Amino acid sequence: LGTAASALEEPIAPPVQVKHTQLLIDGQFVNAASGKTFPTFDPRTGDVIANVAEGDAPDVNRAVKAARKAFDVGPWPKMTAYERSCIMLRFADLLEKHNDEIAALETWDNGKPYEQASLVEVPMAVRLFRYYAGWADKIHGLTVPADGPYHVQTLHEPIGVAGQIIPWNFPLLMFAWKVGPALACGNSIVLKSAEQTPLTALYAAKLFHEAGLPPGVLNIVSGFGPTAGAAIARHMDIDKVAFTGSTETGKAVLELASKSNLKPVTLELGGKSPFIVCEDADVDQAVELAHFALFFNQGQCCCAGSRTFVHESIHDEFVEKAKARCLSRVVGDPFRKGVEQGPQIDQEQFNKILRYIKAGKESGAKLVTGGDQIGTKGFYIMPTIFSEVQDDMAIATDEIFGPVQSIIKFKTLDEVIKRANASRYGLAAGVFTQNIETANTLTRALRVGTVWVNCFDIFDAGIPFGGYKMSGTGREKGIYSLQNYLQVKAVVTPLKNPAW
Ligand code: NAD
Repeated sequence: LGTAASALEEPIAPPVQVKHTQLLIDGQFVNAASGKTFPTFDPRTGDVIANVAEGDAPDVNRAVKAARKAFDVGPWPKMTAYERSCIMLRFADLLEKHNDEIAALETWDNGKPYEQASLVEVPMAVRLFRYYAGWADKIHGLTVPADGPYHVQTLHEPIGVAGQIIPWNFPLLMFAWKVGPALACGNSIVLKSAEQTPLTALYAAKLFHEAGLPPGVLNIVSGFGPTAGAAIARHMDIDKVAFTGSTETGKAVLELASKSNLKPVTLELGGKSPFIVCEDADVDQAVELAHFALFFNQGQCCCAGSRTFVHESIHDEFVEKAKARCLSRVVGDPFRKGVEQGPQIDQEQFNKILRYIKAGKESGAKLVTGGDQIGTKGFYIMPTIFSEVQDDMAIATDEIFGPVQSIIKFKTLDEVIKRANASRYGLAAGVFTQNIETANTLTRALRVGTVWVNCFDIFDAGIPFGGYKMSGTGREKGIYSLQNYLQVKAVVTPLKNPAW
């Protein structure tokens, strides 16, 4: 195995080695039952980083058995909530201690800038685990003033074994959003990481065991979607599935759940979020924020502000300044200081983005800047802008998941509301205005799960996140995510002496 930083002139990350490549089942690292492995690649070069055990249905079965035992026999849900909270806090401390190493592993596997991983994403994961550790001993039911001589109470119980399937764009954060609330509620877990980025979930799960997590509570099955992922979705002994990924795969997961044991499913899916720049906006600030909203994480964000609606009165100035901002964007090796954009995740996504750029050119949109790959090694794409984009062009309707900004002109507020809402997605929106009335009108009218006003991509642990329409069902983070992992039991007891 190589080291992540060894080939670089000025590495800003510590050299890191891949320590864990096996599946983690029942507290032990084990090979896949088939003995098979699959490669995970460095997006900077396309070179193999490591070969990782390839889980499939038999491994999911093993993991579910371990998770069932940990849940049904214990000790996990039978430990006090305070004890569970302490383990989660100890894990958060370990994650924090290994911040730079895990960030380097994330950058190596995913291609995102190391500064982003180390200064933002790992600390956010730490914060999220502390947030949910705080919830563990504050989850409780109600008493209900029912008619008749009855004492009625509700118990909020863990749902059981949770199956969790996550994508590659924020591997550690998606691990945190799923694992944090599930453990706080006392569930056990079988998690499948994305096949493009299996490394940090294994690293983090190992740290969880060092923090005192009992064996079987958190099992990691690396592998592919149609095999290991589908085995989770259709498993008869998994009580709930939480999925993040594309809308198409979300539908497949829902179908498998409905055809097996009707397990409840939460889905965090794709988006085509509008970012609306109103006529009163400060153009320089709007350009910067719209740039961040789209290009952050190489454009690989489900909530990316990928339809940049700009009022006609400031449109031309906006386009010129957006172009200048793109040209100053620092694209390069994500381990170097000051790099804002690294490579895309893999060949498949790289090809898909270039296809959309071609479609944009052919459909009559105006290519303002970019529009091609960078170099011949790795999966780098130029920051790209199209203007004169029409609502029905593929670059305005489809999730590109890459560094391609579509600028769309609008005239009135009513018109932009209709056009922004005319999408099968409803994940998020950005609103840029100095007028409180305009902000209030837009925030109420937009059919999306999050509206960021004069800001974007604010992901505090307590803020719920999820989609309207085909962007998903259910909410993650905050108090809302707890509902995904709890059953409510009503307990009714007759009162002998109803007068009291
Ligand atoms: P994807 O749907 O291909 O894969 C996501 C996960 O599902 C992976 O772990 C994959 O192995 C697994 N999977 C694939 N086929 C499966 C099947 N048949 N059964 C069970 N599991 C299966 O998506 P992707 O390309 O990896 O990720 C990009 C997509 O994810 C984008 O559309 C993006 O918008 C979405 N996303 C959404 C959010 C959100 O919070 N809403 C967050 C991140 C990514």
